[in-house]
Amino acid sequence: MRAITAFGAAGEVTGSKHLLEADGARILVDCGVFQGRREEAYRKNSSFPFDPASMAAAVNSHGHLDHCGSYPLLAKKGFAGDIVSTSATRDLAALVMMDSAHIQAHDSGFLEKQQRKRPQPWRKIMAPLFDERDVNAALRHYVAVDYGRPRQLADGVALTLYDAGHILGSAMARFEIGAGGGGLAVGFTGDLGRRNMPIIRDPETLPPVDYLVCESTYGDRLHDPMETAMDDLAEAIKGTAARGGRVIIPSFAVERTQELIYFLHKLHDAGRIPSLPVYVDSPMAVSATAIFRAHPECYDAETARDFPFAGGSPFAFDSLHYVTSADESKKLNDLAMPCIIIASSGMCEGGRILHHLVHGVSDPRNTILIVGFMAGHTLGRALADKLTQVKIFGEPYSVKARVKILNSFSAHADWKEIVSWVSSLDTRRLKAVFLVHGEPAAQAHLKARLLEKGIKRVEILAEGESVELR
Ligand SMILES: [Zn+2]
Repeated sequence: MRAITAFGAAGEVTGSKHLLEADGARILVDCGVFQGRREEAYRKNSSFPFDPASMAAAVNSHGHLDHCGSYPLLAKKGFAGDIVSTSATRDLAALVMMDSAHIQAHDSGFLEKQQRKRPQPWRKIMAPLFDERDVNAALRHYVAVDYGRPRQLADGVALTLYDAGHILGSAMARFEIGAGGGGLAVGFTGDLGRRNMPIIRDPETLPPVDYLVCESTYGDRLHDPMETAMDDLAEAIKGTAARGGRVIIPSFAVERTQELIYFLHKLHDAGRIPSLPVYVDSPMAVSATAIFRAHPECYDAETARDFPFAGGSPFAFDSLHYVTSADESKKLNDLAMPCIIIASSGMCEGGRILHHLVHGVSDPRNTILIVGFMAGHTLGRALADKLTQVKIFGEPYSVKARVKILNSFSAHADWKEIVSWVSSLDTRRLKAVFLVHGEPAAQAHLKARLLEKGIKRVEILAEGESVELR
């Protein structure tokens, strides 16, 4: 029997988990967490709709939480095989899974304390799903394999990873099942990146496949071209510096922060922005940047050319400062001069960015730069929607700083980019494209565009639905 089943990221964009059944071998492609409403997410993340011990092997496409965050639980519940990924993905996944273990321990400890102080019947304390030891146990299953190096996962099942161009180390997976006349090739895009992203390479073309499982996050949206991101950034910084203000950038610790550092480095060297101090104020971003520094094998030709190994790191220049201690972070509030502050969390839902917003959101000289996706009901979304009043730590603040949104930053292909990438494949063998990792409207739009392009069969996978591969 040969089949694919979507156990997550079906009609939604989190919880990626796909089962590939290939002649008796069961292989799990990604094991991410569901994100969203707290109780529902917790329920969906606390167990698996399959037996982890039945899996021969797993593949981790990249180190985002919604693709790797449940591997510790998988290992805890009996998974015994290898987790194959690139070496950069293994390192980023280690950071992200460990961070998740710490957040779970912190949140549940905090609620327990509240409950002891003032018991409330409605308060639900959710025990952490895994701890540091479970993360370490999962990491011992990881086997690092570089792009383009085939690896046998089970009898008659070989895997090759291809660069997905989404974040450092991100990979598409191509499986070859069986041999000779009855052989099949199946591709999984994981999260598909974009051309011309800084630091990392463009998405590769997959060799021909019979079936393709394709993401569809932005299946009905278009981004501004990546090429304008650096110019947009320079404009925002020049304007703010001229007003004597500071540029406050909420940013995800992994990938977006390193892209910003890379662009700021280039703008600084070219003299295109005034020489302001730049503070990366996030311990997680500092750790992630160290991982970027350790993986030059993932850089594109431009990065390798502009920052040769002996010529200094893309992630270091004289006005750039990494801030780890909380004391140093607080001292930034007293700085009188214009500066640039990059801090987490990316959607302003917690972390040090909140302190910077408390001190900066009501000063008309400042700019708050939105460079990432802001989910509904987050402070980041309220700022992006240009509300004039926001609540931070429960207190009201009027928004007088300028809020500027840069749409050019995105690590996901938009619908035209997905269609163009699929069209670049040799589709003569292609029997079907299965869409995952998208909301219903995005998936319907992308499906129509792919059919228009001449793809014969495009299906949207429902959660738990198996499709047979013939
Ligand atoms: Zn991703």
